[in-house]
Amino acid sequence: MSTSVVVVGANGRMGRTICDVAQNSPEYTLAGGVDSPARVAELSLRMVGKCPVSDNLQDLLGRVPANSVIIDFTAPEVSVASARVAAERGMALVIGTTGLSNAQLATLESLAAKTPLLWSSNMSIGINVMRKILPELAKALGPDYDMEIMEIHHKHKKDSPSGTALTLAEGLAKARDWNLSDVRCSSRDGLIGERPTEQIGVQALRGGDVVGVHTVYFMGAGERIEVTHHAHSRENFARGALRAAAWLAGQKPGKLYGVQDMLA
Ligand code: NAD
Repeated sequence: MSTSVVVVGANGRMGRTICDVAQNSPEYTLAGGVDSPARVAELSLRMVGKCPVSDNLQDLLGRVPANSVIIDFTAPEVSVASARVAAERGMALVIGTTGLSNAQLATLESLAAKTPLLWSSNMSIGINVMRKILPELAKALGPDYDMEIMEIHHKHKKDSPSGTALTLAEGLAKARDWNLSDVRCSSRDGLIGERPTEQIGVQALRGGDVVGVHTVYFMGAGERIEVTHHAHSRENFARGALRAAAWLAGQKPGKLYGVQDMLA
């Protein structure tokens, strides 16, 4: 059965890729697209005749099948607003937006009691498998190995470090029984002294059109391990988000799901 999807942020980099993949895959039906008032005319030109578009999610949902799953890749405050609309209507929602504050994530968690909600800072299957194995590596190597993360993204990315780098860092901190907020270092400048043992460096590079690179380093005496994930195109995130939408359509509300739940 084909999963009907509505894309919020449909004229953005990720939104356009999700619409293209959905329109070219028999498993999905693109039911509608939403973008900001400033960009909806351009979206309408791109999607002409294919499906309804709007600058208002509430308005659009009245014109699409009630079992559609909403997919939102926009900005934190927009995604939280989409979650409120989805919860009111009892519609499933997949969010891929990064840079949400703890308070915004707590709001998503409370709305997840009312409707199936999934949020993931990275929809790629490769990154999610990496998330599973990194804490095992951290434990197996032990406290003598310093852990650092470096991420690279295109110059338009607004948040830093990336949501994915922070999620990977969370897993590493947990494996050592540390609190990430106590041990994260994202800036080194000047006479900073020796690196403390209880620290995880999370550094960001920005430039060009890099889709996404994440490297985790485990550095010990005389050796180091590097685990790197390269995203070659946005299509892998788009396919992950669509797969999450199809999976979420069969889930009950109750918790804020992640891609890890889908893979389990
Ligand atoms: P983008 O700026 O290209 O696209 C965002 C789109 O949202 C734009 O078209 C913008 O007009 C639209 N928008 C803004 N306000 C809106 C509103 N009120 N209603 C509807 N649409 C609105 O950004 P992008 O590169 O597509 O990234 C979007 C988000 O997805 C970012 O947070 C990014 O970090 C994240 N991202 C997540 C993953 C993942 O796998 N989870 C992968 C890539 C990017």
